[in-house]
Amino acid sequence: MMGGRYGFEKKFREQILMCSRCGFCQAVCPLYGLTLRPALNARGKILVLKEVMEGKIELNEELGETLFQCTTCAGCTENCPSGVKVPEIIVEARRDMARKGLCHPSFKGMGEILGRCDNIYGEEEAPDFGKARNRKAEYVYFVGCVGSYREEEATRDVLKLLDHLGVDYTLIDEVCCSGVLEDVGYQINEDLARKNTERVLSTGAKTLITGCPYCLRTFKGKPQYEGLRERGISIIHISQFLKDVDLGVRTKKRVTYHDPCDLGRHSGIYEEPRRTIKGIAPNFVEMASHHEKALCCGAGGGVRAAYARNSIDMARRRLKEAEECNAEVVLTECNSCVHNLLNAKLRKQNIAIYTTSQFVNRLLEGKEH
Ligand code: SF4
Ligand code: SF4
Repeated sequence: MMGGRYGFEKKFREQILMCSRCGFCQAVCPLYGLTLRPALNARGKILVLKEVMEGKIELNEELGETLFQCTTCAGCTENCPSGVKVPEIIVEARRDMARKGLCHPSFKGMGEILGRCDNIYGEEEAPDFGKARNRKAEYVYFVGCVGSYREEEATRDVLKLLDHLGVDYTLIDEVCCSGVLEDVGYQINEDLARKNTERVLSTGAKTLITGCPYCLRTFKGKPQYEGLRERGISIIHISQFLKDVDLGVRTKKRVTYHDPCDLGRHSGIYEEPRRTIKGIAPNFVEMASHHEKALCCGAGGGVRAAYARNSIDMARRRLKEAEECNAEVVLTECNSCVHNLLNAKLRKQNIAIYTTSQFVNRLLEGKEH
């Protein structure tokens, strides 16, 4: 680890110096694509941090505009010939901002909310999906905050699908995985991580299925959830669970798939969802950008909360790609993506947006065809 005033330079000095300013990241950055502002592109962010490292400018409130407008989608990293890990650098710089009391105003107090309410939205009451909780079972299904408090319909559908398939699962009295705190400059809440770990382990389940790709990353990668991994709990996303299941339904509709950044670029899961979708939708079509190159929906990295207008407009750009391939249905594997894409959908757009499991359940129930 090198010296420096800030955590980001101690950790990432070499990475920052590796940026050759080639600008290849420009083509894929959803913020640049939307605003055409060079300061919002990965190159612009890295140049600014380099100037901070060199003492030319201060890490001050004004830089928040640049550093907090990043969805951490990793599109830039995927396109970067020098392998600069831009989202990791940005997140570390946000931590430095927060330490200086310069965290973006939208996230100030987020830590306290999570200490008080156990969920990211500060909701007082946990939703009741009418399913057993905290019982002995083979699987735990972990819903996540967006699925619990914003996209309840999608969650009801995935739970019905698990029931239909005869899966021996239980819900738990889950609390926010708190991974999102790291994205916006804070630390994972140890108390919440301990509660989730204890509650999963108490069910005796061998497998933890998450509905949310971000929860998946948090449980699989963060040291605060080591307790799950040490006990040999297999941690998978619902798309990995469904990939080999014969769902027994078909649609003639033209269906496309939006790769969530947390499931695709950050977790390397591209083919499992496609396997399921191609199994139920012979008229599957890819959008112009897909797999590693998929355009971000604009929801991640705290951008939806801090820069709602730009977040929605990024989702509109993604929906335009869906329209351009004449898709009737956009499926994805992340409630947060569904939430943003639905919020962005224009009335005139005749396009349905679901998680894959929600769509499958709707086919089973005859609500889609
Ligand atoms: S693609 Fe990589 S090396 Fe090129 S400007 Fe962007 S971050 Fe720098
Ligand atoms: S992570 Fe995504 S939003 Fe952030 S700079 Fe890279 S391409 Fe742009």
